[in-house]
Amino acid sequence: MSTHNSGRRRFIKTTGIAAAGISIAGLPSVLHAGTVTAGNTFTQQPLPYSYTALEPVIDAMTMEIHYSKHASAYAKNLAEACTAEKVDPNSTRLEDVLRNISKYSPKMRNNGGGHYNHELFWQCMKPGTATNPSGALASAITQNFGSLDACKLQFSDAGKNRFGSGWAWLILTPDKKLVIGSTPNQDNPLMDTTDLKGMPLLGLDVWEHAYYLKYQNKRPDYITNWWNVVNWDFVQKRYETA
Ligand code: MN
Repeated sequence: MSTHNSGRRRFIKTTGIAAAGISIAGLPSVLHAGTVTAGNTFTQQPLPYSYTALEPVIDAMTMEIHYSKHASAYAKNLAEACTAEKVDPNSTRLEDVLRNISKYSPKMRNNGGGHYNHELFWQCMKPGTATNPSGALASAITQNFGSLDACKLQFSDAGKNRFGSGWAWLILTPDKKLVIGSTPNQDNPLMDTTDLKGMPLLGLDVWEHAYYLKYQNKRPDYITNWWNVVNWDFVQKRYETA
């Protein structure tokens, strides 16, 4: 069975669709995108909340431009790169393309990464009051970083210290350790071209387009406020199925 299908198995296990007896033959891609497998479709999925939903942390105009212009362009350019480089989105996992990104063009790297990162980013946030991690993820955070506050501090520093454009990450390494780091541009920890390697669990966009309208040069304030909209339930599901 292909890795594409193993992704579906994980999805089914997580949602209980199989238990409910629902056929998956015609599972639409929007469902396949699900929370855990976020980013594994090649097309832009609907934003899981409205443009105003994360205010005041992220203002509506920033959300709208970010989603409908920036992220949308990554998805469009990724489709072009797939056509040019003979990647069939119906029989390929985006994560597998990213894991072998050194074999593809800069266009594939920038836009495959850009699309994956943003699809993940939208899911990493949610409206309402932020919860704290619990269960196995909470234990792992304490074990790896000493405390949740220490973890957040290290992650925030990774975002603040990323020079220019890029991302801060909490990842699960192949040897099952939680590690924090950052990548430049639209690179991510799945890529075979980066030093930081593992499954991204939580990602923060620190490109200026993610915060400049509201925060201007104050990236640290954006990061501080961002913790109030982090969707730890999503991060926890990623951790449990990684
Ligand atoms: Mn962005």
